[in-house]
Amino acid sequence: MVAAHGSSFVHGPPRRDGGTGPHAAARPRHDSERIGPKGSRLPRIVRERGRLRLPRSAPEGRDGTMTPTSPPRRVGAHVPAASAARQVRLQDADVAQVFLASPRAWRPPADDAHPHLRDLPVPVVAHASYLCNPASGDPEVRRKTREVVVASLRTADALALDGVVVHGGHVTAGAADEVGSRGWTELLRAVADVRTRTPLLIENTGNGDRAMARTLEQLAHLWGLVDASDVPVGFCLDTCHTFAGDPAFIHDPESWLRGLLDIVGTVQLVHVNGSAAPAGSRQDRHANLAAPANLLPDELIAVQLAAADGAPAVVETPGDARARADDIAYVRDLEARFGLADPRGVHSGTAHDRVTRE
Ligand SMILES: [Zn+2]
Repeated sequence: MVAAHGSSFVHGPPRRDGGTGPHAAARPRHDSERIGPKGSRLPRIVRERGRLRLPRSAPEGRDGTMTPTSPPRRVGAHVPAASAARQVRLQDADVAQVFLASPRAWRPPADDAHPHLRDLPVPVVAHASYLCNPASGDPEVRRKTREVVVASLRTADALALDGVVVHGGHVTAGAADEVGSRGWTELLRAVADVRTRTPLLIENTGNGDRAMARTLEQLAHLWGLVDASDVPVGFCLDTCHTFAGDPAFIHDPESWLRGLLDIVGTVQLVHVNGSAAPAGSRQDRHANLAAPANLLPDELIAVQLAAADGAPAVVETPGDARARADDIAYVRDLEARFGLADPRGVHSGTAHDRVTRE
């Protein structure tokens, strides 16, 4: 089993340093403060049961307002690596996600890629190429997946990043079911060999006929393989993928999320995306949160944020930096509306205005 996490990244509130601005404190480096019990950097992944706190359980104050149940959550966006510092500042973000190499090519990032990411004042995670599929029936795809994921972890480790996100993948047409388990076991073994402190974050997917991480049954099977390995692995929950990917989630969101936490223990990162595809449609179409095209109701975002406790949230929505600044603001507002965070600690100033001005 796996222990990851030892930093302020996962459950620490954003640093808001009074008059010195939100990003005055530098992001912690690989230091003793960040190193967990097993030498890993992020807070330990604890397999606790039944710790789901739903919005409706937020106690009401005397004046009828909801009392916040969690410290402010870090909220940010996926940004281009080259301009990450500027985007984080303009978006008033507390966290960022980047690609270390092209997401649509088999190109492992160089060990010395994007050195400036070290100086970002917020925690950063990387997302591996979309081409990666650890469960592919094609051995060449599995080999390239291992190569890209391992290289991404090495680069992320050198940059003191807080995780590398990879999709669960799916067994491709014509391949035997066992290929999925074999491919994941091979990948976890390759990751164990490089012994990076940066953990792998496995994300649930919205599509894939024989997916590895779309339904709870699939996730339970995959986490059996994770538990049998000695690799720091965390879970990344994508709100759009949950909504579009598994009809069981729509049928009973609360039970689904409790079942999820029974399997993965805790959620390390949330991708907060709207869905332009209907519930259970098995289509992966992200939408901006306030867009009319978004079919994912706020309640179903709130319940997922509640299940993710204090894990940082990253929006991966369409449009430009301004659109994503609006989505970041939307997440912070949603948390306040559902009593998930203290609005006074969460949002100061309008990132939208700032982006528009610059
Ligand atoms: Zn995602």
